[in-house]
Amino acid sequence: MYPKLAVNCSDINSPFCPCLLADTNHCISCSHLRGLPFCECNWSGLCILYEKQWQSKGSGWRGENNLERWDITTYISRREQFAPNIHLLEFEVSEEMARELRTTGSFVFMRRPDDPQYFHFPVGIMKIQDTTATVVIEAIGPKSIRLLETPDNQILVRGPYYNGVLGQPWIDNITCGTILLVAGGMGQPPALPIAAKLLANGNKLTAVLAPGKIGKIFIEKELQDMGVEVHSVESMRRTGHAQPVAWRRVKA
Ligand SMILES: Cc1cc2nc3c(=O)[nH]c(=O)nc-3n(C[C@H](O)[C@H](O)[C@H](O)COP(=O)(O)OP(=O)(O)OC[C@H]3O[C@@H](n4cnc5c(N)ncnc54)[C@H](O)[C@@H]3O)c2cc1C
Repeated sequence: MYPKLAVNCSDINSPFCPCLLADTNHCISCSHLRGLPFCECNWSGLCILYEKQWQSKGSGWRGENNLERWDITTYISRREQFAPNIHLLEFEVSEEMARELRTTGSFVFMRRPDDPQYFHFPVGIMKIQDTTATVVIEAIGPKSIRLLETPDNQILVRGPYYNGVLGQPWIDNITCGTILLVAGGMGQPPALPIAAKLLANGNKLTAVLAPGKIGKIFIEKELQDMGVEVHSVESMRRTGHAQPVAWRRVKA
């Protein structure tokens, strides 16, 4: 239906392309910018080689204007705990950042302001309302647990990053379709902006939601308020319930 597009890059089709990888002959999308003599990309957007070699290095080009992502120190203004290790956080960002984060598939990197850079971890944007961003974080390892325990609720948010959702060109381009949205566990936060985008493009949506490993469905009401027909099920596994992690490891 739609051509296969190269979308596994978080910078492609954004003001941050071409990036440092292009400068160092490691662009993951453009074979020319990897030093090969031919073009084998399947990207149908703006040509990255053209942008790199021929465009005026004026407005927006990283080399001249040093276009950088923003580091914003902000505060968690609201928290809600959905499950023992699942937390919804709201925080304020700048107007420019909020504008950019409205793109489906946007994500940010988060850490405590005083922590070294390697504490940054990626978090998808579930919702942007004016300048208030909403994310859902699973406290799973050192970076996420440390962020959630930040003193004074102070956090550092770096962004914008894009293309955090696979298949984004299809999501952006489908209009007036009838779509089944299937999401479970920690797949629920990215499902919400996808649903909003699909509805904005005149699609009709039916959602099937399952609690998954985290044991909680938390986007049901939001989807219903948006006009989506929602079916909540206990599990999408043939065997019934989601299995505890330890059990699945043994079975694998
Ligand atoms: C584009 C994008 C968007 C994302 N959005 C979200 C989001 O909205 N919310 C969210 O909660 N997460 C999100 N993530 C995932 C999140 O960034 C990761 O879970 C991140 O690694 C958390 O860091 P951590 O230090 O807390 O956990 P990590 O230490 O990185 O642990 C992550 C997992 O790896 C396992 N692990 C760690 N070390 C080892 C090891 N040595 N051997 C075997 N297994 C190990 C842990 O048990 C755990 O299951 C997103 C990731 C991407 C790429």
